[in-house]
Amino acid sequence: MKRGVFITSPLLGKVVHAYPWQKAGAILSGRETELPSEKGLLTFRRFFRAEKAVKRAVLRATALGIFDVCINGERVGAEELKPGWTDYRVRVFEFEYDVTALIREENVLTAAVSNGWWSGRISYGFYGYKSPAFCAEIELEYEDGESEIIASDESFDSCVQGPVTFADIWDGEYFDATKKFDIDHKGFQSSVRFDGFTGQIVPHVGEPVRVRKHLERAPVSATVYSGTEGDGSDYGKIRVISSGETDIFPCRISGTESVILDMGKNMVGRPRICLSATRGTKITVYFAEMLNDSGSAARGCDGPEGSLYIKNYRSALSRAVYVAAGEGEEEYAPRFTFFGFRYIEIKADGEAELLSVAGEVLGTDMRETGRISTDNAEVNKLIENIIWGARGNYVSVPTDCPQRDERLGWTGDTQIFCGAGAYLMDVSGFMRKWLCDMRDSQVGYADGYCSVVPRIWHHRSCAHSAWTDASIIVAYRMYKMYGDAEHVREHYDSMERYMAAIARDRGVDGPLPTYGDWLAYEPTDKEYISLCYHAQNARMMAELSRAIGKEDRAEHYENLLCEIKSLFRERYVSGGELTESSQTAYLLALGFDMVTDGAIRSAMTEKLKNKIIENDYTLSTGFVGTGVLCTTLAQLGLDGLAYSLLLQTKDPSWLYSVRQGATTVWERWNSYTKEKGFGDVGMNSFNHYAYGAVIEWMFAYMAGIQPGECGFEHFVLCPRPDMRAESEMPAGQKRISRVQAEYACRHGIIRSAWEMEGGETVYRFEVPCGTSAEVEIYAPEGRDFLLINGEKRKKADIGAKTENGKWKFMLFSGNYIIK
Ligand code: BGC
Repeated sequence: MKRGVFITSPLLGKVVHAYPWQKAGAILSGRETELPSEKGLLTFRRFFRAEKAVKRAVLRATALGIFDVCINGERVGAEELKPGWTDYRVRVFEFEYDVTALIREENVLTAAVSNGWWSGRISYGFYGYKSPAFCAEIELEYEDGESEIIASDESFDSCVQGPVTFADIWDGEYFDATKKFDIDHKGFQSSVRFDGFTGQIVPHVGEPVRVRKHLERAPVSATVYSGTEGDGSDYGKIRVISSGETDIFPCRISGTESVILDMGKNMVGRPRICLSATRGTKITVYFAEMLNDSGSAARGCDGPEGSLYIKNYRSALSRAVYVAAGEGEEEYAPRFTFFGFRYIEIKADGEAELLSVAGEVLGTDMRETGRISTDNAEVNKLIENIIWGARGNYVSVPTDCPQRDERLGWTGDTQIFCGAGAYLMDVSGFMRKWLCDMRDSQVGYADGYCSVVPRIWHHRSCAHSAWTDASIIVAYRMYKMYGDAEHVREHYDSMERYMAAIARDRGVDGPLPTYGDWLAYEPTDKEYISLCYHAQNARMMAELSRAIGKEDRAEHYENLLCEIKSLFRERYVSGGELTESSQTAYLLALGFDMVTDGAIRSAMTEKLKNKIIENDYTLSTGFVGTGVLCTTLAQLGLDGLAYSLLLQTKDPSWLYSVRQGATTVWERWNSYTKEKGFGDVGMNSFNHYAYGAVIEWMFAYMAGIQPGECGFEHFVLCPRPDMRAESEMPAGQKRISRVQAEYACRHGIIRSAWEMEGGETVYRFEVPCGTSAEVEIYAPEGRDFLLINGEKRKKADIGAKTENGKWKFMLFSGNYIIK
């Protein structure tokens, strides 16, 4: 931005919301709560003339809030939810467009701005619930070499008007199509400068949010119902008039009838509804992730069987209202909010004909890089669920969940899933942006981060183990995956200050033990987790310091690591045994290398193994333990156990929720069970990606695609097929016998596949041009050679070394079939 300043309307006072959580009790099951309709959005207009022939016209725009901008009535930019969420105390993103083609002699720029993340409920008032504001400029470059800038200031007119009469990220959108945006609105008056922004306007980092067209969904079924009928249960069941899976549209609804559409899976975005209705008909759209499976309150239902289960959205109203203009075919897709849902219910207060409904998927528009599949249909379903979870929770910031009154950048969830996310998508820009939000969250808070980033809380500052450690973990993981030391340099000082803040506040004990092994079935001492995470922090800091040539700092962190480890031994190891006994405790002690003594490690590994077996091959871990579960088992050589857990279908396990009908990953292992119904509604999201971290193990070990020292120029192919002996397998499980994976790294597509063929394992690899792979596969059984592309290769021919029963050798770019 060269000259534009933030402006707002003098009509807007302070935007005030109740403290969001207070409202929760009142509207927890609030279907009856009406979405408010207010005067409209903050709008702007600016007429301008192009005095001479225009060579090039550029529009730069941003807002505190969510904005849409038009030139001569044409919407500029296909990005959604602009400018995205940053720590607005420190920075906001600007968007720049070439608008030459839109410029005429007489022009008008118009814009609308909603509260968004700036002052909507989701902001928790962190920025003061101030009115939204807009900032823009049009730079006209004339053919004769002169140029002119029309910049936002008092010369822009502002007003509060238009069809969007209410918009909030949590609560939804009210769109009254009878109230068109009026360019000649009498309420327009000069804007006033907005002085409530102290940050900087900066260019966008990473990809913006867009409608991801290729992921668009259509309803898979429709149920038209009218009221409720008794069936002896608390709420009864919906009275179904018709239901079907084909010929859904056109679909007529009336004042007494509603339609419930099933989009087939939990998704994040918005509906695009095409309808016709008489002018003034009010159409209300409700969203839900699940349907009530009965009318039983004891099963946690909040309404009649077949109706939308909406209680778990807590205080987020999450709905859309559309008032028809009565102009024949009308199309509506909310622009100033988003929803997390599988089911949509559409209700009208009069007659309406629905002509079509589509599910538009919104998300940060990253390149998807990872694919993986097996010969097990349930595992494939789990994979699909994890991918949809990532798509739905990477919306401008990495969120915990996309539906209820949170949708926040929970740091713990982010770090747990970031390794997985980096296989699925090119998250380098997205995470670079988020690490910047991390740094911003330190501003004014004694170098500590906030548990949610961008920061929205004044309190709960400083350091929370496994959560705010995300700063170091994400930076480290990005370095490993993308090999970009520049990003490390950019973030280094912030991490150093964080480590210093921990030392200042907690000495060697590590970050505050706040959340522990969140939602675990078996508790682990929180201080224990903090100490282990602190060791990881120190280890990663040492490696990152060395990566950017800071040898002295690397030594400092290595010394710290020694100190932490010796404190750990003193506190938690007695007589060669761990004093903590949960699965998570063992995973952290071994996975984070807290104990180095070989004999003790072997004994502990055996203990961990037996614990899982004695637990009937089920896990008992929460967020922290699950995040490292299978990868740690693989590092310990317990690959069989990782497969046994993956293929487990009892509660708790990944496939358990698949069997309960999950289409994304759930917050709890038992968020819903066919046996008992819904889990604790106080916190029960059906799209919470953290447990989906297991897909990282699938890529890194099951398919064996791993970065080398850093990045993929020299990478590792170390697939670990399912080699379990019968005696190692839980009853009823069948081995996975085929895996196919690909990862599109920056150098090209890496492919790794294996298949069991007549008792033999066949590997298929593709090593992209300009890269090399260190291959590590099981030594051929009963022979001293491998068949590589049909040719016999002995160890010496390929320079292979043997390590732990595996052959290690190099492959250069090419396609390989290895037996
Ligand atoms: C979020 C979690 C988060 C946790 C930490 C929850 O409400 O949804 O995913 O990590 O709080 O306390």
